Amino acid sequence: MSHETDRVEAAREAVRLACAVTKQVQAALDDVRAITKDDKSPVTVADYASQAIVGHILRERLGEGVVLVAEEASAFLRDDDNAAHRDATLAAVQEVLPELDADAMLEAIDIGSGDTHHGGFWTLDPVDGTKGFLRNQQYAIALAYVERGTPTIGVMGCPNLPADFSEPLDAPDKHGCVYVAIKGEGVWQYPADNDRADGTHIKRLDHAKGEAISVCASVEKAHSNVSDTDRILEYLAAQGEPAGEPTRLDSQAKYAVTGRGQADAYLRLPTRKGYVERIWDHAAGCLVASEAGCFVTDIHGKALDFTHGRGLEKNKGVVCAPPRVHGLMMGAIEALGIGGE
Ligand code: AMP
Ligand code: MG
Repeated sequence: MSHETDRVEAAREAVRLACAVTKQVQAALDDVRAITKDDKSPVTVADYASQAIVGHILRERLGEGVVLVAEEASAFLRDDDNAAHRDATLAAVQEVLPELDADAMLEAIDIGSGDTHHGGFWTLDPVDGTKGFLRNQQYAIALAYVERGTPTIGVMGCPNLPADFSEPLDAPDKHGCVYVAIKGEGVWQYPADNDRADGTHIKRLDHAKGEAISVCASVEKAHSNVSDTDRILEYLAAQGEPAGEPTRLDSQAKYAVTGRGQADAYLRLPTRKGYVERIWDHAAGCLVASEAGCFVTDIHGKALDFTHGRGLEKNKGVVCAPPRVHGLMMGAIEALGIGGE
């Protein structure tokens, strides 16, 4: 097998197991809250468990040289004041990796402390969309391989995302979806709970003039500017481009929903000056959407630039849409002066 095939297979296994475990933690939200007497504990446990699983599987399958840049670190769980969280995380991890003890789990979490000064590195958001996780709605396990500043493999697990467009997006689906995107080759959708199923190739049609434009954005108002989104849609409506039903959902699942044609744009418009997007919030999702045929840029039309460490320092916000809608969005943003200094 080629290095790329090895990487894709390892990432798929890691994300599949992390999906299963986070879904179990989510199903037991109240029990986990009760053990740790803290409302945020379930996401804490799911985050660490997911990162331990992904770190462990990548190193086991790809070797000691694996570089992983992930959101979490083990310090919190190593503190004996947080022993209840540590025990709950270990119990979750052992559901799929019974051979790991507490020390091995903490070590596996810290595999994620790699840095970006490598020709190729992995980046992981172990639970993207924490608010969605806590609301029992959408979240994602987002893992990407970045080579010389470009994501080349994106594996994104959306444990609560229905494959069927007629199912509601704000309730957990039984199966969920996993997306596997390979740069230049395409993107496939699989059920998250069945690693033997055939994948569906995802390729969206471009948008035609006169069709309504449905936008998806964050549920959290602090993460994307709602009034600027409304101004864009009003501006486009006045040009004969009507707005469709908007969708709000958490996490990078927005990239998948846009890539598979259920929304016509994912807009992430800056809410405050100076916020720098994190690489793990975009690397996997942007490859999923672009391999499906969307353009993914910042609000000024610049490609997302993964060569500046853990942040997208040179970008502002995100616009992801099929080519025609992307062009309309760029025109509206410029005409309205959105994101100008
Ligand atoms: P979403 O699920 O789309 O609401 O995005 C969740 C991500 O938003 C989290 O992983 C955070 O890293 C990120 N985030 C936090 N604060 C901001 C902000 N002010 N603007 C944009 N994104 C943010
Ligand atoms: Mg995140």
